Amino acid sequence: MTKARKYVVNKFFEGVPKREDFDIVEYDLPPVGNGDILVKTEWISVDPYQRAYNSHQKLPYDTFGFQVGVVEDSKNPKFPVGTRVVSHKGWCDYYVFNNTNNSGDGFLNTFDRVYKLPNLKGLSHSLGIGAVGMPGATAYFGFLDICKPKPGETVVVTGAAGAVGSLVGQIAKIKGCTVIGFAGSDDKVKWLEEELGFDKALNYKTVDVSLALKESAPNGIDCYYDNVGGEISSQIMSQMNDFGRVAICGSISSYNENLNNSPKASIIQPSVVFKQLKIEGFIVSRWLEHWSEAFSNLTEWILSGKLKVREHTTEGFDNIYDAFVGMLAGENYGKAVVKV
Ligand code: NDP
Repeated sequence: MTKARKYVVNKFFEGVPKREDFDIVEYDLPPVGNGDILVKTEWISVDPYQRAYNSHQKLPYDTFGFQVGVVEDSKNPKFPVGTRVVSHKGWCDYYVFNNTNNSGDGFLNTFDRVYKLPNLKGLSHSLGIGAVGMPGATAYFGFLDICKPKPGETVVVTGAAGAVGSLVGQIAKIKGCTVIGFAGSDDKVKWLEEELGFDKALNYKTVDVSLALKESAPNGIDCYYDNVGGEISSQIMSQMNDFGRVAICGSISSYNENLNNSPKASIIQPSVVFKQLKIEGFIVSRWLEHWSEAFSNLTEWILSGKLKVREHTTEGFDNIYDAFVGMLAGENYGKAVVKV
């Protein structure tokens, strides 16, 4: 019998999650039955939705989230020993995946499957939870399917230096758009402009967003990829062009807020009506059956140098909590990952 460790959440978070909201639990793994695989975790993802979905759970619950691991024991010929797999098994160091256990209700079970790590052609396996994983698919489909960008259009992205935002801005450049990104420090702004090729990047903590946009996008905004929500989004939407498209990907500015008490944002309906904007929220699992198409394009763009990826790596299973709150506080450039 193999011992494993996992993080269990025992509280509803109040504001920024606290270390004591989590327990690290040691437990015995079940035997590897027919069709099952035993996986040793190698890379674990920390993501904003692990904060946002906390209030939707029943306590206590096992953490959820994408991770990459290697098959160490297998009674499933499709996944022989040594296969690298991606799953949504969360913050654990080993797990037994029961291949028949694919049913259930709700969002999380959409991801209750294991798939082989895409062919990364020599790139780091960690990309399987980043640019060639769920965040990559989020940037790819959320931007291309919802914003439907045309060459020459002006695109604004918030959370621009993060996992999803940094890809969205670069995909927009690949598609021939002018790209303006908002991020939370001068150094991130420099990185976006000098390394990732954004036409303009702005520190949302220090600029007057409306004024800065009037200067940077004098002809208005055609597409807005919203990772952040709240007042900055209202200000951006008020400067959109007729028939602009808005992809609502996330709302991280409010995840640590008590929603009964969260900051108010300006009314956007007049802009939406008179500019005939199209606004659409989405969850990336909508395109789950098509992720592999995104993964091959994203891999080719990375290999050809059109898409640059950066990761913020924390070492050690015991340090996942620090990686998680560090990501929420903006420590990461690109994707925040934990190397187990
Ligand atoms: P990031 O890598 O972008 O990390 C989070 C970043 O959010 C931080 O680095 C920080 O950067 C920024 N941030 C934190 N607090 C605030 C705030 N109050 N205002 C503005 N920015 C803030 O995370 P992801 O790329 O993984 O996720 C980005 C967004 O996409 C999130 O909203 C997430 O929920 C959403 N998402 C949605 C999916 C979907 O299916 N709809 C799937 C995956 C992600 P900074 O220094 O710039 O403040």
